Amino acid sequence: MSRKYVIAGNWKMNKTPAEAVELINQLKPLVAGASCDVITAVPFVDIPAVLEAVKGSNIKVGAQNCHWEKSGAFTGEVSAEMLKSLGVEYVIIGHSERRQYFGETDVTVNKRVRAALDAGLTVILCVGEYLEQREQGVTSEICAMQTKIALQGVSAEEMSRIIIAYEPVWAIGTGKTATAQQANEVCALIRSTIASLYNQEIADNTVIQYGGSMNAANAAELLAQSDVDGGLIGGASLKPADFAAIVAAAK
Ligand code: PEP
Repeated sequence: MSRKYVIAGNWKMNKTPAEAVELINQLKPLVAGASCDVITAVPFVDIPAVLEAVKGSNIKVGAQNCHWEKSGAFTGEVSAEMLKSLGVEYVIIGHSERRQYFGETDVTVNKRVRAALDAGLTVILCVGEYLEQREQGVTSEICAMQTKIALQGVSAEEMSRIIIAYEPVWAIGTGKTATAQQANEVCALIRSTIASLYNQEIADNTVIQYGGSMNAANAAELLAQSDVDGGLIGGASLKPADFAAIVAAAK
């Protein structure tokens, strides 16, 4: 098994380029000794400034979305190749806010995953159920389905560039965290889905994060679970000390 903890911050639609540089400069010394991978996924317009600011540090840079076409008449979109050409390494795809507010479907998530891999990016693929679905008892089905559709056409070799983030929608930005047991159960289910699609070795090597109101106080318990290999952090990633505390808990 070769998986390593990955802690990724999703800044969402926050921070101007100048504010982003300030945040990175505060974060750099706090996470310098991290034993996990540290990623910040920032707004498109912040990417050049943040890439410059992280130079010489252990912080890696991601985007929060990409389009599936290389170029063309897609006003307002950004291609995976454009991100790669800037020096971006990671891209979040299928975040529940994209699914909820911007019409993202499992099929478009799959197309974006394909494009990101083709461009040489590593994908942080988000899956997760709504509260209603959890109450209906279909969490496993929803998460397995989202995982299977998103990974269509992804080869076994390419799975080394896929990170999966289990993010129950009811826990995102709500302050309601899944219990460590709930998080672990679904992360394990996603891992067994990957084993059924590929093989056990690939499943064992895939990083599966939990996301949803993870913070400095609850990170250690969540990260101690056998199938939770890191976190995708929204709100707390905007607070350097809190994000650094989560990074420190990932060991
Ligand atoms: C997220 O945006 O992916 C997220 C998990 O947000 P929060 O940590 O604020 O719940």
